Amino acid sequence: MKIGILAVQGDFEAHAAKMHSLGAETLEVRSPAALEECDGLILPGGESTTQLQFLQEEGLYDAIRKFAKDGHAVFGTCAGAILLASEVKNPRQASLGLMDMTVLRNAYGRQVASDVFFGASRLKSEPMEMVFIRGPVIDRTGSGLEILAEFAGKPVLVQEGNLLAATFHPELTTDRTVHAHFLQMASRAMHEAKPTEV
Ligand code: GLN
Repeated sequence: MKIGILAVQGDFEAHAAKMHSLGAETLEVRSPAALEECDGLILPGGESTTQLQFLQEEGLYDAIRKFAKDGHAVFGTCAGAILLASEVKNPRQASLGLMDMTVLRNAYGRQVASDVFFGASRLKSEPMEMVFIRGPVIDRTGSGLEILAEFAGKPVLVQEGNLLAATFHPELTTDRTVHAHFLQMASRAMHEAKPTEV
């Protein structure tokens, strides 16, 4: 299994290390051609405005939308979650519009803005370590979204079919639960993915 990691800016290397520790191969994605070689894709944290501009300039905006709509697994953390959302506010910003949710950028109060917490999740029985770095608040989720973890009264890990989004950074802890879950999604998607009609 080969997992692509959008490698424009941000903490893509931490995701690669986590994937390698779980036995998956990775490929740094900076072009639609690289994406075509991948079975799944991670959109890392960083600055969503910069990343979005890169996607639009390099033709990756349309390529990623098609990749996701074909049924491949895509995982966005923090800025990546902002890119996946159907609606971005604070300020308003374009996005890939793939997951039915509204996010508010940089909307956590000072206490949660950048810190480490332990919270409950549906992926494991023990509390999960969550590192927040100026993450977005998920303010609305459509009925098709499954909330896998919440913190401070808001969803922080959500799934919609083959798409997964975290507003925290599971790649920055030693816990491999979220990445292992994503690999399972990717392997299931690999067997089910079909190219959409063009
Ligand atoms: N604040 C960033 C943004 O709005 C996201 C921060 C992150 O990815 N750690 O794009």
